[in-house]
Amino acid sequence: MAGRSGGIPENIIDEIIARNDIASVVGQYVRFTKTSGQNLFGLCPFHSEDTPSFSISTNKQIYYCFGCHKGGNVIHFVMEVEKCSYIDALKLLAERAQVRIPEPEDESYRKEAQKRDQIREALVEAARYFYQNLNSEKGSRARAYLAKRQISAKTAKAFGLGYAPDEWGGLSRHLRSKGFGDDVLATCGLFTKGKRSENDLIDLFRGRLMFPIFDVMGKVIAFGGRILDDGNPKYINSPETPIYSKQRNLYGLNFAKSSKEKRLIIVEGYMDVISMHQAGVTNTVASLGTALTERQLDLLSRYAEEIVLFYDSDNAGQAAALRGLKMLISRDKRHTATQTKISIAMVPDGKDPDEFIREHGADAFRQIVTNAFTVMDYLLMSAKRQSTVDGKIDPRTYQNLACTYLSWEPNQVLRERGASEAARVLSVSVASVLAEAERVEEQKVETEFRETIKKSERQATIVPEAHEGESASLEEMALLCLLAEIGDEFSSLSEKPIPSDFSAGVMRDIATESIRLLEERHFTPIAFLSLGEEKSINGRPAREVLSEYLMRTQKISNSDFRRRHVLDYIYKLRIRAYTERKAFLAKLLDTMPESADKEATKKNLLQISEYLRYIRKKQKEI
Ligand SMILES: [Zn+2]
Repeated sequence: MAGRSGGIPENIIDEIIARNDIASVVGQYVRFTKTSGQNLFGLCPFHSEDTPSFSISTNKQIYYCFGCHKGGNVIHFVMEVEKCSYIDALKLLAERAQVRIPEPEDESYRKEAQKRDQIREALVEAARYFYQNLNSEKGSRARAYLAKRQISAKTAKAFGLGYAPDEWGGLSRHLRSKGFGDDVLATCGLFTKGKRSENDLIDLFRGRLMFPIFDVMGKVIAFGGRILDDGNPKYINSPETPIYSKQRNLYGLNFAKSSKEKRLIIVEGYMDVISMHQAGVTNTVASLGTALTERQLDLLSRYAEEIVLFYDSDNAGQAAALRGLKMLISRDKRHTATQTKISIAMVPDGKDPDEFIREHGADAFRQIVTNAFTVMDYLLMSAKRQSTVDGKIDPRTYQNLACTYLSWEPNQVLRERGASEAARVLSVSVASVLAEAERVEEQKVETEFRETIKKSERQATIVPEAHEGESASLEEMALLCLLAEIGDEFSSLSEKPIPSDFSAGVMRDIATESIRLLEERHFTPIAFLSLGEEKSINGRPAREVLSEYLMRTQKISNSDFRRRHVLDYIYKLRIRAYTERKAFLAKLLDTMPESADKEATKKNLLQISEYLRYIRKKQKEI
């Protein structure tokens, strides 16, 4: 969390949370109409509804909406409702409760923060330098290029466009003259290292039209540069720096977020975004030179209910695009709650959206957006295209592709709808297409399982990691929620949870940290919630999942009853973990080659069986 909190010490964050009662902060946005125990209910500020499903817990100091599944602590609420960053929410709440945020005493924190500030200043200065060059004699070619692309001077100014002259040291000289030191220059992402000396820096962007990249709040965090002739590469972008991660930002979002439209359009390039905005389609953003990432999608779903992606219809990078779609489908499955609808649009004749809007205007463009395809329809269309030879569909190729795409779709209804289209193309029954898609899916699971076994055979210790990743079961969540409320009773438990009781991956990380906090007597609902920052569970932001479970867990007031409940969960989880391990070893023993030394594995199996018997007995005695 250190990164997000910008060096603000944990104890100050705790104080800010403590001094901003969730009921009074949320009460500024939500009218509570119903109470249930310690929970207050009202109409959700994040989705539209007629009956209240948004709730806060006054004793746990968290919120959760049973409709749209948003949840978190008071800081997250302000982030969501004000659409601001973590740090801005903290500052807002600090001001509200009159908590003074001190200059961090930690020297390294202070230095890091200072360095980031200097990098930001250097980028602003660089943007000025590029802008001045664009509007000087040196920038005539770049201005001619903009004129050719019909970008007005007003638009160029609004987007802060500039020009990097074709010089090796123009920018470095300029920034040095403004007092920026070598360490700032070396880390701001605008230079590459030369060979002449230790501090020899070469301007990264030379002879290029410059696009400043802004964060959501409109601050320059990086640059993209386009070459003016046919040279290569056409675009260069800033590398990752202490203030810039391309996976977490989208070009143009700072402008698009104020469009007040529920739909955001994602195009490929900077020029597309600028043309769209100039044409009045201001709800357009661009992913920064990568296929859309999950983080970008999370960011987008804060601002949009619907996302429309533009894909080139005759794209050489078709395969990469399809892999991206697989992510979208499976993410969609896990995020049905957030209801971010994703669809795909195409410009006819393989044109850029930019070209299209210049030729046909904004209304024709909006029509294309409105007629966008669902992800599955798009995939099936591309299966058709990929399998068409000389105007005829090769049924074998089409079947393979279509069934693979269908196997990605976890939603049965959508899968069946897609299957009926594929069945029509193949002139077969829907049932046989569905069966084939299922077979493809099983095959995939089987292959993954085999790979896990292969991996373990090479390892000395055999631990099944079938659950590696971000899955979590109801029992393990419930156990941690109960533990978050037992306080000092933890030390007197006859059996304590251990990390391996929990699903490998994210859940185990959270559990390990929870157990540590429990031992230090620092485990509270709020502390538990903060362990979910920037993680996902079962495909949803962990923070939301944890809020949901915390909100659902009722405090058990009878301490004996509470203790028995906790023990029961611990035993259940442990039995599950060991049963899985046992099954895994048994399967492994089966597949071991004759030559292998099976004795160690057999012994291990026996030990596990014995231990399982022991825990089952303990469980009965609770
Ligand atoms: Zn809601």
